[in-house]
Amino acid sequence: MSDGILDNLTTITDRIKHACKASGRNPDEVKLLLATKTVPAERIKIALHAGHTLIAENKVQELKEKYEALKEVQHSNHFIGHLQTNKIKEILRYNVTCVQSLDRIDLAEKLHQRLLTENKTMEVLIQVNTSGEESKFGVHPDNALELVKQVAQLGTLKIKGLMTIGLLSAENEAVRKCFRLLKDIQQKVSALNIPDVEMKELSMGMSGDMEIAIEEGATIVRVGTAIFGKRPTPDSEYWNENEA
Ligand SMILES: *Cc1c(COP(=O)(O)O)cnc(C)c1O
Repeated sequence: MSDGILDNLTTITDRIKHACKASGRNPDEVKLLLATKTVPAERIKIALHAGHTLIAENKVQELKEKYEALKEVQHSNHFIGHLQTNKIKEILRYNVTCVQSLDRIDLAEKLHQRLLTENKTMEVLIQVNTSGEESKFGVHPDNALELVKQVAQLGTLKIKGLMTIGLLSAENEAVRKCFRLLKDIQQKVSALNIPDVEMKELSMGMSGDMEIAIEEGATIVRVGTAIFGKRPTPDSEYWNENEA
């Protein structure tokens, strides 16, 4: 009983292919990340067994709860939620390979300190707030370059690119603006050739706007609802500062 997950995965893979074709891109350039917040491990496993290997949580608590059950199936874990500095140790314990939501220097410094202690490194994306919505995390676009430069000084953190959540809007052009802005920042950073900074990855696009994101250069699309169905909790619980 896959309750639609396998069909949904086929649909999503087709959507990615179509969007790539429409913009003259190679589908191999776009990775599908499964956003698994609120989804029980048993349902995530259905997707993993189907050959999808990149998953991400928003909360350390959920990472922890599903860790044992998912351990037996090969996959990689990214982190895409607001990371509190007191949860850094746990992120490392549960084998997160990339923090996509690095958006402030104090978090970067604390993560770096912990990685030094454990003699580890971590891939990171810099999360930029391209929509201008107060409720969304991410560094202000005007400060993104400065943050990249600061994080580049921290030897354990390997910058691989940028991440954003686009404006949640039915107006495609307003959404597209967010993705263009991220691409623009990517190009500005790339032009500086900062040592140890890669700008290959653009993590943008979700269930509702992945086509636009792919047209604008996404290399990672993060999809939840369109694969696992509607979530019981509103996203504001994951995207707002006043969340525990
Ligand atoms: C939940 C979430 C997604 C996936 O959103 P859907 O609309 O369910 O596809 C992507 N990125 C982040 C950061 C999320 O929190």
